Amino acid sequence: MSENLYDLLSGRFPADRSKPCFLPPDGGAVSYGEFEDLIGRFSALLTAKGVVVGDRVAAQVEKSWQAVALYLATLKAGAVFLPLNTAYTPSEVDYFIKDAEPSLFVRDAVALAAEAVGHEPTRESVPRAAGDLACIIYTSGTTGRSKGAMLSHGNLAANALALHEIWGFTPNDVLLHALPIFHVHGLFVALHCAFLSGAPMVWLARFTDAEVLAGLARSTVMMGVPTFYTRLLAQPEFTAERAAPIRLFISGSAPLLESTFAEFEARTGKRILERYGMSESVIITSNPLDGDRIAGSVGFPLPGVELRIGSGEETGVIEIRGPSVFSGYWQMPEKTAEDFTADGFFMTGDVGRQDPDGRVWISGRAKDLIISGGYNVYPKEIELVLDELPGVTESAVIGLPHADFGEAVAAVVIGEGDEAALIARCREQLAAFKTPKRIFFVEDLPRNAMGKVQKNLLRQTYAETFGKG
Ligand code: AMP
Repeated sequence: MSENLYDLLSGRFPADRSKPCFLPPDGGAVSYGEFEDLIGRFSALLTAKGVVVGDRVAAQVEKSWQAVALYLATLKAGAVFLPLNTAYTPSEVDYFIKDAEPSLFVRDAVALAAEAVGHEPTRESVPRAAGDLACIIYTSGTTGRSKGAMLSHGNLAANALALHEIWGFTPNDVLLHALPIFHVHGLFVALHCAFLSGAPMVWLARFTDAEVLAGLARSTVMMGVPTFYTRLLAQPEFTAERAAPIRLFISGSAPLLESTFAEFEARTGKRILERYGMSESVIITSNPLDGDRIAGSVGFPLPGVELRIGSGEETGVIEIRGPSVFSGYWQMPEKTAEDFTADGFFMTGDVGRQDPDGRVWISGRAKDLIISGGYNVYPKEIELVLDELPGVTESAVIGLPHADFGEAVAAVVIGEGDEAALIARCREQLAAFKTPKRIFFVEDLPRNAMGKVQKNLLRQTYAETFGKG
């Protein structure tokens, strides 16, 4: 039996194909039938263009329902989808093209759809085994070369089925989709949950305050990055009444501040469900649908996911094994071997701990660990202290080169105040070696498209604070 992911997803499209799939903000709808038709035509077009099984189809395209059809058509044709962030510059794209050698590179999915209309839709999809490659996702890679995580049909199917189940999706759901579709969050997590339910999506090109506020009234589930939630909270019009139609607000891709979780609950009476994932295995842990969602914890490993702390100590690098964990990095067998243990666990590079109940708590990326005077300093511990202090909205703690300590702890905070006084307040709660030696006040922190604070940029900006180190 074929395990082509496309067969699994399309097998769950509603029997009545006239039902809506994409609901754009300006009214109108694209039905499941129209969507399926374009997928078939794209699939025929790919074949006509010489794309064969296993070929890569790269897409650096604006968000559109046609781009989603191109993704599924690529799977249907047995080829490998390679989404690229629209923010990448030509020289960055050049690297991906040389590395992945796609046989087709699409820049405009809407124009390609116009071309596809002339082709008779392909009916059958190309049979694929669970282990066959479905997608390559280049990780944002803040250090070194960007790596292409290879995800199979089976990896994606396992994760999609688990999420659909644990988040209680039904055909009555309507998903508010305002995420980009070049990243696993918008492309896999969100879309697959909707398709497995045969549910429609309120389909927004991006997050805009007005469209999201209006979209809430038509939706039942919202998926977002933490900045979506802080942006909603910044609007006085976002009230409990506005949030009422939504049965589930889900957050991930970056840490959700405890203050955001608390403010959201106070405003709406609803507790955001935080989950944790990465390109290399899509979703790894989730807070429960039924049961306590705890601020600061990313919840429990998904069914089928084995999770352990590598060092065997209380806090250390999170290691995972399970059906959704990728098979390796594209054409990097050595890097792949370095990142897997002998018994097949992937070393995520995230540092965290698991409490006796099984809940997982993340303290940051291993590469963000600061070693100051020989002591390990976990930035998250200091950020949690800072975030509670008056005048601080959010903080990012980094290590900077320092002649005596190797690295010195410094903090960049959104807010205003007196640096010396804030340092003194930290010192009341933290050992001297953990207390920031400098605190910089800023209006905002640099973030990537998924809302992740780019600590590498902060380290560059403040590199010479303590001399040349
Ligand atoms: P990406 O591969 O771009 O999706 O990035 C994955 C990384 O995002 C993970 O390895 C984590 O460092 C981070 N991440 C994702 N979700 C969370 C979360 N809920 N809390 C903290 N970090 C997260």
